[in-house]
Amino acid sequence: MDHFQYRNGVLHAEDVPIPDIAAAIGTPFYCYSTATMTRHYNVLTGALDGTGAKVCYAIKANSNQAVIRTLVELGAGVDVISGGELTRALAAGAVPGDVVFAGPGKTREELVQALALGIYQFNVESEPELRLLSALAAEMGKVAPVSIRVNPDVDAGTHEKITTGRNQNKFGIPIGRAMEIFELGAALPGLAMLGVAIHIGSQITDLAPFEAAFDKALGLIDELRAAGHEIRRCNLGGGLGIPYGGETPPAPAAYGAMVKRMTANRNLDLVLEPGRVLVGNAGILVARVIHEKHEGRRFVIIDAAMNDLIRPAMYDSWHDIVPVLAPAPDAVLAAADVVGPICETGDTLAKGRDLAPLAPNDLIAVRSAGAYGAVMASTYNSRPLVAEVMVKADLFAAIRPRQDIDDLIALDQAPPWQQTIFA
Ligand SMILES: *Cc1c(COP(=O)(O)O)cnc(C)c1O
Repeated sequence: MDHFQYRNGVLHAEDVPIPDIAAAIGTPFYCYSTATMTRHYNVLTGALDGTGAKVCYAIKANSNQAVIRTLVELGAGVDVISGGELTRALAAGAVPGDVVFAGPGKTREELVQALALGIYQFNVESEPELRLLSALAAEMGKVAPVSIRVNPDVDAGTHEKITTGRNQNKFGIPIGRAMEIFELGAALPGLAMLGVAIHIGSQITDLAPFEAAFDKALGLIDELRAAGHEIRRCNLGGGLGIPYGGETPPAPAAYGAMVKRMTANRNLDLVLEPGRVLVGNAGILVARVIHEKHEGRRFVIIDAAMNDLIRPAMYDSWHDIVPVLAPAPDAVLAAADVVGPICETGDTLAKGRDLAPLAPNDLIAVRSAGAYGAVMASTYNSRPLVAEVMVKADLFAAIRPRQDIDDLIALDQAPPWQQTIFA
């Protein structure tokens, strides 16, 4: 459920008409709903009630500080994948004790940054990383809280670019080697070997792969405990899918019930790292029609493009596309490709969608754009980053203004031999 609904034929974000935002901010813009994020967070944590699970929002899904702040104020911790994300999360009000640091390639500088802050947990993904973390922690006189990310070799049944738990993927330590790695970690200085972590992929629409992976992780924890390791934590990752179009992902309640059932009486501190499920359906991308072009096919050319939302080009993703003003009941729908102005055929946001006729300047909304949308934007074709707006009830505010083209091109510098400044 989200809070982007038509009222009197006009698409609203909560109590704010989308055309009001477009008039104030221009297009394109991302628009996020506070009530939707709040609802998704509460539904998920409600489903985990009684487990004591720590919910660490994976900020790579949407790292605008106003979004992070909204979830932190609700009680979320954060899952970060880079030193930059760590800095950003703290700036938005997260505290180091609620930070989980994941990712297969943490640099020395990033590990030092996190060690100095005293974060909740490092999810270590390889033996070299474990050795480096140990050396740095010992040098700094710290003890690093470690969970080992294991790769359970489970197929998440999702798009190949976002499946992470197969043995051919770059993530984690093969589960068969975990015992050896825990023994190594226990012998190295500067490490507290606290737990096991998994994360098998994103946009997972079936409970079965989660169950299979959790089962392997919990089995490993039993083995490690039997071998004398004091395993206290289990990090179950993120990955719960959302409905973009036709999918029927498990309800958070069903997911939570499964987590409860599998982890009951195991005396484990649970960590979850949801990203998409909290913010995906809490955002839309609003664009204007530039014009329609009819040449064999019907193309609706809009002012947003693949640089603003890369998911369709990168993952063949489906996003529902709706007009901001509901069409007249007798409007004739016809199939259209919705495309951006970028000089690539891949710049196609949707293919063959039944849409009523659209006129220049009409507004359309690309739904379910709150996760992996703005964060993956680029300035390809010298297109400034679009504005981001947050709505709360009848209020709205720019939480990132549209990038200015002069600021964008001012990032380039002339080398001394060109004897110029780019003006
Ligand atoms: C991306 C990522 C997540 C979040 O995934 P979602 O599908 O957005 O829930 C969680 N944990 C790790 C380690 C990740 O890389």
